[in-house]
Amino acid sequence: MAKQRSRPSIIAGNWKMYKTAGEAVQFIDALNPLIQSSDKVRVLLAPPFTAIYPAAERAKGTSIVIGAQNMNDASEGAFTGEVAALMLKEAGAQFVILGHSERRRIFKEDNGMVNRKVLRALEAGLQPIVCIGETREEHEANKMEQVLKAQLVESLAGVTARPAAQLVIAYEPVWAIGTGLTATPEQAQKAHAYIRKCIEEQWSATAAQAVPIIYGGSVKPDHAKALMEQPDIDGLLVGGAALQPDSFARIVNFEQSIVTSKG
Ligand code: PEP
Repeated sequence: MAKQRSRPSIIAGNWKMYKTAGEAVQFIDALNPLIQSSDKVRVLLAPPFTAIYPAAERAKGTSIVIGAQNMNDASEGAFTGEVAALMLKEAGAQFVILGHSERRRIFKEDNGMVNRKVLRALEAGLQPIVCIGETREEHEANKMEQVLKAQLVESLAGVTARPAAQLVIAYEPVWAIGTGLTATPEQAQKAHAYIRKCIEEQWSATAAQAVPIIYGGSVKPDHAKALMEQPDIDGLLVGGAALQPDSFARIVNFEQSIVTSKG
């Protein structure tokens, strides 16, 4: 039986450092007709910085929402090569992915840095998608809960209950990202339920019920539906399978078929 959804369903594509501005526009033109119309699924795409403006312009009038993969924690300043929240917002971004494990691992971003970015994004009116997740070593040492709680609480320090309800949390087990190893729906559900419990303890039951928690880690069209059927999985953050319009559309439409099957 299809689950009843009180929270919006979100299917988000993270393109990482792939696609020029021209390719991004072509992708949107190819994806748009493949999306079965639904006001219950939010389709999000995060292209590289240089493609945000043209992608956002092309996505106007479609159900596709454009956002960014990262931003600087300062509002402006002498930070060569960096991009600020208001610049993203003006370019057409509506959300920003923060604390992705590649940012944490390669660019040494810690929870304090993620926290400053979250506060800045909220101030600028960008919806943060805050990524948390345990490494393989932490997973094998049964430290998942400990790691998730610390990342959540530290990354969201100073965020009060109302803005907390406007966030999206992405559970992305590091061992599953780009590896072809997906968490089973049961494993992901367990982690999502735990994250929701932490949100309730830290903020409120209302915030916990309102916050979408999405799963990321080697999501492919064939297992999107099984993940989405879990009660605490509200969406998917997709890397590799979001680079082709066909595979991304199949993921988007898997979700929609769950929604429409409720009648
Ligand atoms: C990601 O980069 O957020 C991601 C989940 O990538 P992939 O789907 O390729 O594992």
